[in-house]
Amino acid sequence: MTYTRFDAVEEAFMRPSVDAVPPAPATSDYFGCNVFNRKNMRKYLSADTRQKVYESIEQGITLQRDVAEQVAAGMKRWAMDMGATHYTHWFQPLTGGTAEKHDSFAEPYGKGESLEEFTGKLLCQQEPDASSFPSGGLRNTFEARGYTAWDPSSPAFVLGDTLCIPTVFISYTGEALDFKTPLLRSETAVAKATADVLKYFGIKDDAVYSFLGWEQEYFLVDAALYALRPDVIMAERTLVGHNSARNQQLEDHYFGCIPSRVLEFMKDLEFGAYKLGIPIKTRHNEVAPNQFEIAPVFEQANLAIDHNLELMALMKTTAERHGFKVLLHEKPFAGINGSGKHCNWSLGTESGIGLLSPGKNNKENLRFLVFMANVLKAVYDNNALLKASVMTASNAHRLGANEAPPAIISCFLGTQVTNAFKELLKSKDMVKIAGKSKYSLGIPQVPELLIDNTDRNRTSPFAFTGNRFEFRAVGSSANCSSAVTVLNAIVAYQLKQFKEAVDKRIASGTPVTQALLEETKETYKKCQKVCFDGNGYSDEWKAEAKKRGLDCETSAPVCYDAYLSKQTAMIYEDVGVMSDVELKARTEINWEIYNKKIEIEARVLADLTANHILPVATRYQSVLLDNVSKMKEIFTDRKEFEQVACGEIHIIKDIAMHCSEARSKAEEMEAECDRIEDLPGERDKAIAYHDKITVYLEQIREHVDALEMIVDDEMWPLPKYRELLFIR
Ligand code: ADP
Ligand code: MG
Repeated sequence: MTYTRFDAVEEAFMRPSVDAVPPAPATSDYFGCNVFNRKNMRKYLSADTRQKVYESIEQGITLQRDVAEQVAAGMKRWAMDMGATHYTHWFQPLTGGTAEKHDSFAEPYGKGESLEEFTGKLLCQQEPDASSFPSGGLRNTFEARGYTAWDPSSPAFVLGDTLCIPTVFISYTGEALDFKTPLLRSETAVAKATADVLKYFGIKDDAVYSFLGWEQEYFLVDAALYALRPDVIMAERTLVGHNSARNQQLEDHYFGCIPSRVLEFMKDLEFGAYKLGIPIKTRHNEVAPNQFEIAPVFEQANLAIDHNLELMALMKTTAERHGFKVLLHEKPFAGINGSGKHCNWSLGTESGIGLLSPGKNNKENLRFLVFMANVLKAVYDNNALLKASVMTASNAHRLGANEAPPAIISCFLGTQVTNAFKELLKSKDMVKIAGKSKYSLGIPQVPELLIDNTDRNRTSPFAFTGNRFEFRAVGSSANCSSAVTVLNAIVAYQLKQFKEAVDKRIASGTPVTQALLEETKETYKKCQKVCFDGNGYSDEWKAEAKKRGLDCETSAPVCYDAYLSKQTAMIYEDVGVMSDVELKARTEINWEIYNKKIEIEARVLADLTANHILPVATRYQSVLLDNVSKMKEIFTDRKEFEQVACGEIHIIKDIAMHCSEARSKAEEMEAECDRIEDLPGERDKAIAYHDKITVYLEQIREHVDALEMIVDDEMWPLPKYRELLFIR
């Protein structure tokens, strides 16, 4: 007997809620217990070794070989005490997600005996056979070696029975093959450029960081129902499925009461996250049914991103324990909200100064306006690149597809900051004003608490929210490094330009404060076109944005061109984030991944149509045909027959039409895929996949969804939206 949709529905309905975890006394008792953090280092490393490790973390000093040996020995003892038997270098290849290859600590040494070994060399560097990771032509297969190298700024952690060591992943010739390497370089660049500008304000020796607080959105579906959806299994989204009568129109899910089974999952997830030292703070329902969000307190970007990736992996394993599947795809269901991963980004210092926080006095407010203007200018100059950094085949369903956020990168400032800039532009007599003591600059006091909730704009992709920018265009499945690297790099470059210009003014005799004011004014003037506080979804904005010269491209493959522009190459070279070769390789990989994703969707939909949908539709059609022919025997009067049978005849014709259209479109699509595969370059392929195949995907879906509405519910093989979305 086959397992049907109804069995799955029953299983889902009857699934008991699994108790999350034994109640723990207080989070603080176990927070970070699975991390080789300072607390654990104190138990396993000598004071001297610890000191060297801290220096390495804080100042980026390379660890000496003998120190690495000490660290490795301590780390191994700690990990084994935690029950670990294996270790792995944990890295972030460009395929997305994380990669790990587990090696056992066990080192057999003959005579049938073995001991546990983990040396400084094994800690610091490995050579995984990485030939099957994408390299965009950076690595020929004969030099398939890539190196992973320890990143001490992100602490090692134990997951299950494995010690995980965060690492960068680079090619034999030193090019970045991962997300982490350019991110670390961008952090260094922006920290340096920021620190240089801070000197004007008398701030020295205060380390600068880029901070990130991500908000991870996701869907949960019952595992039994998931198992009956080949599209969701293979492509991570529903390629067919008619809207359910009720979806999110009641908006009753957002911030609603969290269903108990989901709550147990969340508690379990948080327990696991806390053990990994991930500072989870918030959990709530999202807008769409079965959509949720989890968010931590912000951290230094590199650490925040590692934590996000750890969490994404943890979500999947935890969901399994609770009979759920977690969907991180940006648009698993058509017609209802997709999932993003808002990246709250800011710059700040070790001592706690938020550089995007308005201050309490004019001097602090000038600093605030300086950094705001520079961020705006960087975003304005590089809006196409910023969009490219978040564009993927899956996120393209959100960006520009009439839902949060549009495919045009603009900045929302809110009334108060906008007014502050307006005042700045108006202020004329700078010399006099600036000459007065106590920084009486003639710009209005910007109140400390700026943005209240009424002054928020959900349609803006890059919104100022009081002490940070919220980059909303990032997709839920993304590695945030892609976006944060671009942000850090372009802001670093802009700050360098700014400093050069200010220095020039100072050199020609302008007092520092006035030079800063004048240059901030100039900077803002040049980029104010990027500011837009209105409705980002409206057609008027699309037209207006075009006029303002903002990038309005919606085709992902074309968006990637921004990585190859002269400007990007110049900026990346200048701030030392990526070389030309690395940029080219990365763009090649972006296209490659895009192509693979769309190709998979096409193959899955073609199979689904041919093997699942059409057979069922024709079976139902036969039932109707049979009925009609029997009616004909009873209703011998032709007119009478036509009257009673016309409804069914109409349906039969409809089914025939939809089946024939779906079949022929699917065949055409497959043939087109074959042709595309023969095209010479990845970019050409990507453009063809975008222009041709995604259109077929939509067309076929329309016919299948129409059939779903016609065919007897009893016969329909795939779990429907109402089941996927409303069963908890
Ligand atoms: P929202 O109201 O936008 O849903 P959340 O509370 O869900 O806000 O998430 C906001 C995120 O922004 C959190 O991760 C929070 O720690 C982070 N955040 C707050 N201040 C800053 C800052 N200065 N820099 C970076 N991130 C920040
Ligand atoms: Mg939130």
